[in-house]
Amino acid sequence: MIVLKFGGTSVGSVENIKKVAAIVSSSKEDKIVVLSAMSGVTNTLQKISNLLSNSDIIEAKKEMSALNLKYSEVINDLFKKDETVLKAGDLLRLCDDLLTSLLTIEYSTKIEKIILAQGEIVSTNLFQLYLKETGESSELISAMDFMMIDKNNEPDGDYIQENLTKVLSNFTSIKTFITQGFICKNRNNEIDNLKRGGSDYTASIIGAAVGASQIQIWTDISGMHNNDPRFVDRTFSINEVSFDEAAELAYFGAKILHPQSIIPAKEKNIPVLLKNTFDPDAKGTLIHNDASIEKIRAIAAKDNITAIKIKSYRMLMAYGFLKKVFEVFEDNQTAIDMITTSEIAVSLTIDDTSQLDKIIQELEGFGSIEVDSDLSIICIAGNIAQNTKGVTAAIFNCLKDIPIRMISYGGSNYNLSFLVKSSDKIAVLNLLNEGLFTIKSKKNKSVLI
Ligand code: ADP
Ligand code: ASP
Ligand code: MG
Repeated sequence: MIVLKFGGTSVGSVENIKKVAAIVSSSKEDKIVVLSAMSGVTNTLQKISNLLSNSDIIEAKKEMSALNLKYSEVINDLFKKDETVLKAGDLLRLCDDLLTSLLTIEYSTKIEKIILAQGEIVSTNLFQLYLKETGESSELISAMDFMMIDKNNEPDGDYIQENLTKVLSNFTSIKTFITQGFICKNRNNEIDNLKRGGSDYTASIIGAAVGASQIQIWTDISGMHNNDPRFVDRTFSINEVSFDEAAELAYFGAKILHPQSIIPAKEKNIPVLLKNTFDPDAKGTLIHNDASIEKIRAIAAKDNITAIKIKSYRMLMAYGFLKKVFEVFEDNQTAIDMITTSEIAVSLTIDDTSQLDKIIQELEGFGSIEVDSDLSIICIAGNIAQNTKGVTAAIFNCLKDIPIRMISYGGSNYNLSFLVKSSDKIAVLNLLNEGLFTIKSKKNKSVLI
């Protein structure tokens, strides 16, 4: 069995939905197809939810009508048979009725999650109706019947495996299953989600649950690039990357993959192939255990980082200081990304600032606190082991004129990261691209090989 996930742009228009259907039909293996919402839809749903939270019913209704119109146009263009148009119309009415019914209910995060789920529910239903119309047999399975997160909002692997297996066993002759990315149930049996961009994570979790032979992530670019193509012009697609490198890149901002999406695939050693829906013949990027070794593979950047410096002479020669500092973050359920220490100070970074005031208040008991915001972590992934010569010199040589706030090196063999002002991010990504890669046709690679 293989898992194929198609992102928002891939299912974002009638023309693209047809391309996805052609890719799905051309692979003859048993498969589970995971779909995102059509591009822009989750943003619109989020907007509707925000409007409702501000009791702005009039604007929320306007957004809902615009969404309904967009879907109606898709239905009219996508389907040929009257019967399918009618079925799709019913689906649309159900979705619209549900959203309308929420207008009069008191707003809560539960309501927000119900609203956000509608994008994937509609896209999967429309896609299955299209496959049916083209004569392709398939079964739509609801993510709500097997995708579960636990009390820590982590996927519950055992539950998912048991329930997905049960669902699939009901359809022994079906070779193509379709399901929603992103959405799941939580411990209270309510609709929840795996956070923005979470359909990649769904695909990887499903792949791990069914022991897939491969997980394919189909998107709008031919695989992982050596640098962020949104900010750097001359980037190139890389043929292969290790699970560890891909996990670092995804976590530190390579938007092509949801931050946690590599973990389930890596745990089960299932290769992940990144492919382009709009150029299916392009090789893409294979993420696997046997990737060749390169000193510098790729660069990514993560924004909205806040650095906290705790300075205390009580740290001098003392033990147990870091433990107390970490406990503050643990108690406030805030993950730390980077950390550096000196004898009298420790600096660390967080991206979730929802508990920042409380954290600062508690840390003030240990020493003086400085907080810097609007920072970005730049992550360089590759074989950056301590015994590899020349890599750090080459990196910092590119950044002679850029102030660097923190450096993290040696934590793992495949990541060097540093912290800069977000206003310097684009310059940094471009300087590193120029300095660390030769970018000529057929010779796109790190200069350090
Ligand atoms: P989807 O909707 O298919 O999930 P995303 O927009 O989430 O697609 O991810 C694909 C986008 O990720 C690309 O269009 C590209 O702009 C962006 N991206 C950022 N960093 C990278 C990278 N290193 N390699 C490839 N794409 C990247
Ligand atoms: N539709 C969701 C989002 O836009 C999930 C995804 O596309 O992966 O974030
Ligand atoms: Mg995505």
